[in-house]
Amino acid sequence: MHEDRVKCDATSMLASAGRVAVLTMDVEDWYHLDYFDRRRCDVRQSLLDGVEVYRQLIAREGLVSSYFVLGELARGLAPLLRELAAEGQDVGSHGWDHRRPLTLTLEAVAEDLRRSKEELEEVLQRSVPGYRAPCFSLDRRRLEAVRAAGFVYDSSRIEFGAHPLYGTIDLTGFEKVGGEIYRHGSFFEFEVSTLRRWGRQIPVSGGGYLRLLPWAATRYLVKRYLAEHELYVLYIHPFELSRKPDPPLPPGTRWATRARFSVGRPHVADRLRRLIGLLREGGFRFVTFAQLRRELAASVDAAAGTP
Ligand SMILES: [Zn+2]
Repeated sequence: MHEDRVKCDATSMLASAGRVAVLTMDVEDWYHLDYFDRRRCDVRQSLLDGVEVYRQLIAREGLVSSYFVLGELARGLAPLLRELAAEGQDVGSHGWDHRRPLTLTLEAVAEDLRRSKEELEEVLQRSVPGYRAPCFSLDRRRLEAVRAAGFVYDSSRIEFGAHPLYGTIDLTGFEKVGGEIYRHGSFFEFEVSTLRRWGRQIPVSGGGYLRLLPWAATRYLVKRYLAEHELYVLYIHPFELSRKPDPPLPPGTRWATRARFSVGRPHVADRLRRLIGLLREGGFRFVTFAQLRRELAASVDAAAGTP
């Protein structure tokens, strides 16, 4: 909706990068989901084994992935996160404890960003380049806080119309560099994929849609999306791939919420493999956001004639 105020580059930088797919995992536990009240959840019943399930699936497929990790989980996952980083996977921040930035003051957002970045960097002993806001809850002022905290890319923008929890980021002054990618200096914004159809934005990127929709519907929507776009972004969560049964949900959890949480969980790994197959058929190359940002930043420098 702000495209008119975003400067568009005539030549897509992605033309040189090719068609790319970025598979991402938001590393949080089930009780971080916005539809549960964490204070009423048994947080000892972790479903974080789904991170390892995902990691092995990605490894078997010979792919790479971007992980956005909550700061408060970093110590407990330290050996795994170090291995991921050593394998060339991209480890970024998903904030400290999944509080949504749009519910926080700018000062509190800055502190959340600083704290999560420092914690991850201490665990990994390397810089953490990227950020994704919990629930995509970000606006322009908070995006500026992401830049100010030293991140070099963000992936919190999603065109998702009426969803009450998702923010809309005004990208005035950013340059569109192809696909759903925007640049401001050396900082990049990677938009999460949605398909414009029937006057609506249809999400084609979330693990929830891999679980909840029949595969024929997912396949149709994703193929339509891939036919029209150069960048595909998937986001998935550990609870969706965990092999553990559903934890006891808080008493009084509504039927619809229970269904939203648990329906289709046993099929997600299979769906994800099929989705990877569609991306391969479509000629998509798999990269991490950190890799893609480096490639795009290098092509900007080359175009500007700088070394
Ligand atoms: Zn999240």
